[in-house]
Amino acid sequence: MQIYSGKSVFSGIAIGKICVYQKSEQQVKRVRTEDGEKEWARYNEAKEKALDQLRGLYEKALKEVGEANAAIFEVHQMMLEDDDYNESIENIIRTQKVNAEYAVASTSDNFSTMFSSMDDDYMKERAADVKDISERILSLLAGGEKGKVVTDEPVIIVADDLAPSETVQLEKDKVLSFVTVHGSVNSHTAILARTMAIPALIGTEMPLDERVDGKFAVVDGVNGKIYVEPDEETFAELKERQREELEKKELLLQLKGKENITLDGKKIMLYANIGNIKDLATVVQNDAGGIGLFRSEFIYLEKEDYPTEEEQFKIYKTAVETMAGKRVIIRTLDIGADKQCDYFKMEKEENPALGYRAIRICLTQTEIFKTQLRALFRASAYGNLAIMYPMITSLWEVKRIKEIVEEVKAELTAEEIEFGNPQQGIMIETPAAVMVSGELAKEVDFFSIGTNDLTQYTLAIDRQNPKLDLFYNAHHPAVLSMIKMTVENAHKAGIWAGICGELGADTSLTKDFLAMGVDELSVSPGSILPIRKIILETNVEEYKRGNYADGETL
Ligand code: PEP
Ligand code: MG
Repeated sequence: MQIYSGKSVFSGIAIGKICVYQKSEQQVKRVRTEDGEKEWARYNEAKEKALDQLRGLYEKALKEVGEANAAIFEVHQMMLEDDDYNESIENIIRTQKVNAEYAVASTSDNFSTMFSSMDDDYMKERAADVKDISERILSLLAGGEKGKVVTDEPVIIVADDLAPSETVQLEKDKVLSFVTVHGSVNSHTAILARTMAIPALIGTEMPLDERVDGKFAVVDGVNGKIYVEPDEETFAELKERQREELEKKELLLQLKGKENITLDGKKIMLYANIGNIKDLATVVQNDAGGIGLFRSEFIYLEKEDYPTEEEQFKIYKTAVETMAGKRVIIRTLDIGADKQCDYFKMEKEENPALGYRAIRICLTQTEIFKTQLRALFRASAYGNLAIMYPMITSLWEVKRIKEIVEEVKAELTAEEIEFGNPQQGIMIETPAAVMVSGELAKEVDFFSIGTNDLTQYTLAIDRQNPKLDLFYNAHHPAVLSMIKMTVENAHKAGIWAGICGELGADTSLTKDFLAMGVDELSVSPGSILPIRKIILETNVEEYKRGNYADGETL
């Protein structure tokens, strides 16, 4: 058995034979010719065919993976029609008196070198796109089709790297998984892979020859491993995990694409909680309507030093682009208490849960807050981003946040940096916020109830202390009444209210939340479909006529 590790871009288990994907390397020869007109015409003919193929790929991707992810094929069309690119090819053909293939290959090299040397990461990535469109032309000039996997049985594709066009061209029913030696988590290919829901690994150091080609293997997209010729025990274990996955998928198949609507017509938003963009794969797989809580502090926790504006911007942009128009609620830094970061150099506190954490840090160390806000506002220009502020207790905090937000917007405007108009909401996770929720609701676009902290602060029970498990009761009438009160106050002010704490995923309370009028539940991706099932089976008005758990009737 050989085991290779990579970075997972989509989870799941795939079992099957490996097919090493060899790029149709174009051997380009420099051939002198006096007939420049003919070579230029050959190029233009190939270009028209390539544009046709790209239009087809765009349509295919649009149906399969949505507009945002299909956009790359529009970019390729634009690049192919770019004047500089075409003039370079024509110039090489006519002045050097050479064949079209050579002119395309030289232009491709020159342009990709130019793009890769740029500082801007977005432009750097365009180097791969220039190569991709040029290879397409070269293969058309050679009379072939670009990058086709010819196989009868479904296989695990192992490749050096896969260009977006190659990924989307893979016949999905012939591909169990793909594993690449190179590739970046933020590349279009990775985004497409996640959206196509194929278990995939990138950055996997493995050979691309007969040592693996045609061999039996298992890809473990959860732990980022590929086992080539696994031993019996490993295989049995992975097979069992695959069976469990398939069971989950069955449920998924039945409920995927269905609206979250009760028997009596009440709609509810069912979103997912994530802590990392790696989780986006399962979000899409489980058909979440959006992201209701992106715990951004994990970006800080994974680093040795403060993440820069640019680093954060890229992460938030990836999240909104991958979610393709669906709402992505990013919670600002909630560090402190159980989430400690050395470089924040926080003093030891007697009661950290009641101490210097979350918005309290942001409102006193505004530079840290502003860096994050700049990244968030910039990313909001790329999709449906919403911002949420944690640990609110008072109205003045929200007013102060709004002032800082205005400062950030003014700075971005002065610097002529583009930004969107994100919705801004707050977490309701302290009893104080519940009690003043009527006033708070007038200041924000939405509420999201953090029942983990709300329970801790309402019941005066440290949520980290296992000795208090007996007393920690998230179903306590006080907690349920607070949820109800928060939702009522939100609705009075015309805003929506959801739950993003763990209680939101408690299926024994789903009907009660519906009866209270909760507008959104944000849960771990795996909980989405079980909750959707309950929603589809519930008649809220009928349920309300019985005794439901709203804190008053208990
Ligand atoms: C909560 O408190 O319910 C919540 C969602 O936030 P966290 O668990 O990250 O504190
Ligand atoms: Mg909390």
